Amino acid sequence: ASMNLIAFCQDIVDTLQMSISQQHSINFVCHGDCGDAQMDEKLLQHILNNLISNAIKYSSQGSEVKVELTCEGESAIFHIQDQGIGIPPEDIKKLFSSFQRAGNVGTIQGTGLGLAIVKKCVDLHGGLITVESEVGKGTTFTIILPLQSMAE
Ligand code: ATP
Ligand code: MG
Repeated sequence: ASMNLIAFCQDIVDTLQMSISQQHSINFVCHGDCGDAQMDEKLLQHILNNLISNAIKYSSQGSEVKVELTCEGESAIFHIQDQGIGIPPEDIKKLFSSFQRAGNVGTIQGTGLGLAIVKKCVDLHGGLITVESEVGKGTTFTIILPLQSMAE
């Protein structure tokens, strides 16, 4: 459906921020004119909820999670960045498959399904997802979605 993308994202960030109280600060910034986007709200909600929840879960209390939205031409570019445990390079490729987790999760609980769902949703939207990460430093997921999606 046609939507105000910035308001939609702000809403998701605000809801997550409330549910985690003050343990992390989620910082949302946007650039460019997103106008009226045509996206599947359910899919986008799955994508953002999973990626921001991961950013919180895999970083320590008090660290910053940054959500950046840039609208450029026909695309919405999202960066979800944390200062958490990072992902070992040898594990990155498999994480978009179901039930796969990295070797450095320690006692942090998880099923290994979130990113598989995110990948599905991004594909359904005709988008792209990439990840850059350094162990002990942090992780940035980048999602590029067409602002006018045919996914519905
Ligand atoms: P759940 O199904 O509850 O989301 P999960 O978080 O373990 O469980 P995914 O969200 O699919 O599963 O993530 C897969 C794995 O990727 C995680 O177990 C973790 O090893 C790694 N991972 C994902 N996001 C991050 C991140 N932001 N920082 C560090 N590791 C991450
Ligand atoms: Mg997860």
